[in-house]
Amino acid sequence: MAALPPTATIGVVGAGTMGAGIAQVAAAAGHPVLLFDIRTEALPAGLERIRGGLERLIDRGKLTRKALTTLMERIRPIEQLAELAPAALIIEAIVEELPSKRRLFEQLEGICSEQAILASNTSALSITALAATLRCPERVVGMHFFNPAPILKLVEVVSGLATADGVAETVQATAASWGKQSVRARSTPGFIVNRIARPYYAEALRLLETGGADVATIDAALREAGGFRMGPFELMDLIGQDINFAVSRTLFEAYFQDPRYRPSLIQQELLDGGRLGRKSGHGFYDYQPGAERPAPHAAPPGPRPTRIVVRGELGPAEPLAAALAEVASAVQRTTGAGLIALPETTLALTDGRSATQRAAEEGVPELVLFDLALDFAQTARVVIAAADQAGPTALAAAAGVFQALGKTVSVIDDSPGLIVLRTVCMLANTAAETVGQGVCTAAACDAAMRGGVNYPRGPLTWAETIGLARVVTALDHLSECYGADRYRPAPLLRRKCYGGNRFHD
Ligand code: NAD
Repeated sequence: MAALPPTATIGVVGAGTMGAGIAQVAAAAGHPVLLFDIRTEALPAGLERIRGGLERLIDRGKLTRKALTTLMERIRPIEQLAELAPAALIIEAIVEELPSKRRLFEQLEGICSEQAILASNTSALSITALAATLRCPERVVGMHFFNPAPILKLVEVVSGLATADGVAETVQATAASWGKQSVRARSTPGFIVNRIARPYYAEALRLLETGGADVATIDAALREAGGFRMGPFELMDLIGQDINFAVSRTLFEAYFQDPRYRPSLIQQELLDGGRLGRKSGHGFYDYQPGAERPAPHAAPPGPRPTRIVVRGELGPAEPLAAALAEVASAVQRTTGAGLIALPETTLALTDGRSATQRAAEEGVPELVLFDLALDFAQTARVVIAAADQAGPTALAAAAGVFQALGKTVSVIDDSPGLIVLRTVCMLANTAAETVGQGVCTAAACDAAMRGGVNYPRGPLTWAETIGLARVVTALDHLSECYGADRYRPAPLLRRKCYGGNRFHD
């Protein structure tokens, strides 16, 4: 299907944060735009926000004043909904309430031509439910932009039960002509991004709840070792605890209380205390003027390693073997189970078991586990945890190994899957479940997580990079350790693993 031509009129309903941004995007692509809001005072405010954003682009030399004037002239505020009659595509970005959105679409059906497409920017409501009361439900589609709409490239194009393929294809092609990267999804709670991103918050909260690590260390681990743009706690503070918690609760209920999506009491408590994050001056962190930011854990200097034996392949941590050869006086390679052995300690990449369990099962009392990193050669931080059986010399020697490689070492309590591995495995697991349920393709899933929330790697690509078997094993271990259904591996993940197949060709 072809994109709507730039001459096609675009209607935007709701001139708030998202509506104003969407109007700007459509106008920048050359469309005449009609902008409506139920509160007339919202219209000049929305236009002012657009102008302010464009002025900043002029200041940075990215836009000319003439282009600003042309763009602003294309956006016409209207006072009556009926003026949307000529629009070929109407995108609603009004309040997130099903009855309001339904009523709006019912009114629009009486105003617009039969061919007009009715799109919703809803973050979480069902497109099927939105369309159900209409005469022509096939023209209703989700067009989910991310905030700020003029900057973030991703648009989820969401089909409900009745959405015509041609409608979704036209919207997808139109989004592409607006410079957006679109992914197709079936209407399911959270669509792609808001669903797959849940474990990024949930695993961090779970770890905090169990006293495994503190807020600053978890954030630093996921940022520096995991390669994520922001840590989960600083991100929740930015989004707002109220908004983030509401999405988690909605998804938990929408998936009939599947424990995968269980919200956290810690977040509930922040909300109860009015600690909404940056906007209220306090969330997981304190944003009052002069407040000190807590530092992530950093281990004191350990002894420099001398004799090291690398037993077997280290998998994703293999770059460490070469790097160790540079810093230790004697590095020997033998066959084995993927361990780094020193006289005082044995180091291994976490496999989802606690160090204590693994030390007992493998008969290695001085065991210290280290966490996954996006890139072991580059990572500035490594997280480690010692088995309860290990003495203090084991932990100091383990820290010394990574410190000799120039890395900051954070020691956390012995926690299954540590920080990065458990997060990555659960992101991949949720992604595999989403793909397995036919919500979207594997390619769409990875593209959405990279484009919508800036993940350093698509979760399924990440799982393939570290090995699907490693991911399934870690999830099985986490399930066993917590006795929780939350960690059950997605059937498609297991199947790909046993079949020796990949998500991406
Ligand atoms: P907002 O509160 O900033 O703006 C909503 C606007 O809609 C307000 O100006 C309000 O006056 C207007 N409005 C409310 N009911 C109306 C009606 N019946 N008819 C016309 N106008 C009406 O909200 P927002 O953050 O822009 O969110 C809008 C939609 O976009 C929601 O569905 C939200 O879930 C979704 N969304 C928000 C974000 C985000 O980060 N803010 C991201 C993606 C999607």
